[in-house]
Amino acid sequence: MEIKKFKRVLVANRGEIAIRIFRACKELGIRTVAIYSEEDKTSLFRTKADESYLIGKNKGPIEAYLSIDEIINLALKKGVDAIHPGYGFLAENPEFAKKCLDANLEFIGPSVEVLEKMGDKITSKQVAANAQVPVIPGIDRPIQRLEEALDFVKTYGFPIIIKAAFGGGGRGMRIVRNEDELVLALDRAKSEARKAFGVEDVFIEKYLESPKHIEVQILGDKYGNIIHLYERDCSIQRRHQKLIEYAPAFSLPTTLRERICQDALKLAKSVNYSNAGTVEFLVDQWGKHYFIEMNPRIQVEHTVTEVVTGIDIVQSQILISQGYPLDSEEIKISGQQDIKVNGYAIQSRITTEDPAQNFAPDTGKIDIYRTSSGFGIRLDGGNGFTGSIITPYYDSLLVKVTSFSRTFEDATKKGVRALKEMNISGVKTNIPFLINVLTHETFLKGMATTNFINENPELFN
Ligand code: ADP
Repeated sequence: MEIKKFKRVLVANRGEIAIRIFRACKELGIRTVAIYSEEDKTSLFRTKADESYLIGKNKGPIEAYLSIDEIINLALKKGVDAIHPGYGFLAENPEFAKKCLDANLEFIGPSVEVLEKMGDKITSKQVAANAQVPVIPGIDRPIQRLEEALDFVKTYGFPIIIKAAFGGGGRGMRIVRNEDELVLALDRAKSEARKAFGVEDVFIEKYLESPKHIEVQILGDKYGNIIHLYERDCSIQRRHQKLIEYAPAFSLPTTLRERICQDALKLAKSVNYSNAGTVEFLVDQWGKHYFIEMNPRIQVEHTVTEVVTGIDIVQSQILISQGYPLDSEEIKISGQQDIKVNGYAIQSRITTEDPAQNFAPDTGKIDIYRTSSGFGIRLDGGNGFTGSIITPYYDSLLVKVTSFSRTFEDATKKGVRALKEMNISGVKTNIPFLINVLTHETFLKGMATTNFINENPELFN
């Protein structure tokens, strides 16, 4: 066992996740280093770190955070021990992870090999199938000819979904319901994939009608000890993007939840997974579960799992990277039996988007920013403060409101109360929409599927 204590950690990210990681570092007595783009000069997260440095001058708002060599050089110059990539940007980039290690900087995440395997949806499905974890029937190789898709449809029928192998964030997916649509859809999907993700590989699989999205949080150390922190229900989605997540997934039978957690563990163990990761599944109307992908990084919705298990996932990531085993004095998880789920937690993502304008992002200056608090509420803020400028360059997540209580119903009530207590003006937010979801009967019963928002237009009122 080799422990390499971190004195300084650089966060190669921005917004709420950067702040979340700085907090974890501070609690562990580690000095924090922020990077920021020119566009983020006045952003809040910068001021939450001990030091902050401009990066990617003249490169553009996104490219700045993708400047691999510049970030690594800065880290070396500033005496940094490790880099936390957050989510998005370079978080799942094996080249970045490898360059960090080559420069003798710890990459706070899984191994380069795991990032390579999990980076594309085709390879990760193969890994899951090899580990005997159920996957959605499909053609799990890049589709070359229309006939391959037609052959698949002969056996499995429509609808099918075409997916970009390297897609992410709900983008690069197309549902196809008949043969006429198929020809055009294949070509379009390929050219879209090439433009958006740089690789034109697409594959197809059976499209499940109204599934639930259930995912399992995994934590593994560097010595092969791997546990799960139970599941989250992330079925409340708009355009395949998550909006509200909760734990536990109480509406599913306990036996099914246990099977899903065991399958997640089986997959993680098969690749000797280390650090935090998430195994995602869809559950169909008949209660069958299928692996869809693994996210080898911290996720936006990790909060609900932290709240119900009491495990600080971000601190755990940093400690695991330093070489501490799960059962060390620092992490204090001696085995699966130590993980208990207490109560219910629901995370609502407040975005600067206008539900009345089909969720068009809103930008400008926030004139008033007053947040909620009180028993049962956790806030993970990004760039919200009175006078802050919301730019059009980045995703529109403003603050995450996590409510928790002993019953699900009470957690929804606390969530609604907290959302109503928020006072934000100057930019539009999706708060009214979130309240409509949290008070909807189907949601309250835990019965909402990934089609819930499409099926309930009254949520937009
Ligand atoms: P991304 O990496 O872009 O998040 P995922 O593969 O995780 O993409 O899928 C995101 C969402 O898309 C899922 O939660 C689900 O709502 C929908 N989806 C993906 N595959 C299927 C499928 N085969 N059938 C039905 N819905 C699907």
